[in-house]
Amino acid sequence: MQADVVVIGGSVMGASVAFWLTKLHPGLDVLVVERDPSFARASTALSAAGIRQQFTTPVNVELSRFGIDFIKNFEHRLGHDVGIPSLGLRENGYLFLATTGSALATLGDVATMQRNHGAATEIWGPDQVAQRYPWLNTADLTGASFGPRDEGFFDNMGLVTGFRAAARAQGVRFVTDTVTAITVQSGRVTGVTLGQGGDVACSRAVNAAGPRAAEVMQMAGLDLAVEPRKRTVFVIDAPNARHPEAPLLVDRDYWIRPEHAQWITATVPAQDGPCAQDDFDADFALWEDVIWPALWHRAPGFDAVKVVRHWVGHYEYNALDQNAVLGPHPALPNLYLINGFSGHGLQQAPGAGRGVAEHILFGGWRSLDLSDLSVDRMVAGKPFLELAVV
Ligand SMILES: Cc1cc2nc3c(=O)[nH]c(=O)nc-3n(C[C@H](O)[C@H](O)[C@H](O)COP(=O)(O)OP(=O)(O)OC[C@H]3O[C@@H](n4cnc5c(N)ncnc54)[C@H](O)[C@@H]3O)c2cc1C
Repeated sequence: MQADVVVIGGSVMGASVAFWLTKLHPGLDVLVVERDPSFARASTALSAAGIRQQFTTPVNVELSRFGIDFIKNFEHRLGHDVGIPSLGLRENGYLFLATTGSALATLGDVATMQRNHGAATEIWGPDQVAQRYPWLNTADLTGASFGPRDEGFFDNMGLVTGFRAAARAQGVRFVTDTVTAITVQSGRVTGVTLGQGGDVACSRAVNAAGPRAAEVMQMAGLDLAVEPRKRTVFVIDAPNARHPEAPLLVDRDYWIRPEHAQWITATVPAQDGPCAQDDFDADFALWEDVIWPALWHRAPGFDAVKVVRHWVGHYEYNALDQNAVLGPHPALPNLYLINGFSGHGLQQAPGAGRGVAEHILFGGWRSLDLSDLSVDRMVAGKPFLELAVV
């Protein structure tokens, strides 16, 4: 078998790259290899499916600006009728709370940057928070930042399904298999080996393996500081706190957002670190010891709460700077990365996929300058930090 481009991983990032490659270059022979098309353990399927404009780096705001337009105009932007006319965006906004003067000052600084890039972020005092959401305890707040448009949550699986269907309509081939080896000759990738399907010769390869990105790099003899990190998401029912209009609230120790009449919530474990690829065991103490006391303090309506469900997903965590890693690897210039999104990748999939596809086709960044997120910084060990990692 052979292909112009082999994409390793066919979830949201792989499907987005394949879509953009064949949209921008009709007829390009693209093969997407996905080991588990049920996506049962893919980050994409286990995501909280949020989109926000409130990031601390301009490039992340720009990626989300592109993402929200794509999500709002989904089938039109895809250019194909894929049977998903809407991704059901609920534009409830994100509310970042501040409990110190310096935290509020930081929110104010980044809000100015965000507005300069087209976001609508507002800075509120505690009174404004209380007026809009009277069920919140605002006594210890110094203020908050809120995105009144272009922020909320949407259908994560609709996005990946749509990308895959549109890519298929544009001629992309999808196979169910596992890439087990990468062949390198004279400093270039010349092919990959599939667990079942044998060898595939290619002139370019894309690493879209999510939390398994480092595993794929090792097949090419390279290191990458992207690791799986466990996040336990709790679905809770709180009969005295039913607020489907609530924003995604980011408080000091947890985040929470409405899911119809219920809520979903999660936190970052104090002992955060890499986990095994097959470790999906829930950490129930996070609910009991960390989230619930903080939540009850923030909103007394959470006095009676039942955890009705939970799931565990893996962030594909960039241990250097919690930001995406995009584009060609300097040591293997025809191996392209789209990895390391650290919990904010779903919303970036449209823009990151387009950027990597443009780099493959045209030899550089085009529509958006994504050089801040290039692989070179990883190799040089020079972090480009995103501070608003939830
Ligand atoms: C709990 C949680 C909450 C999140 N919340 C948000 C949010 O609110 N907003 C947001 O924007 N992002 C969020 N994210 C992050 C977002 O989900 C990810 O950044 C994004 O989905 C990553 O997509 P991906 O395609 O790179 O990875 P994945 O969806 O994990 O896909 C990688 C694919 O590669 C395949 N694969 C791996 N190795 C191989 C191989 N050797 N051969 C073949 N196939 C292979 C896997 O089977 C998998 O399907 C969250 C993530 C989690 C876990």
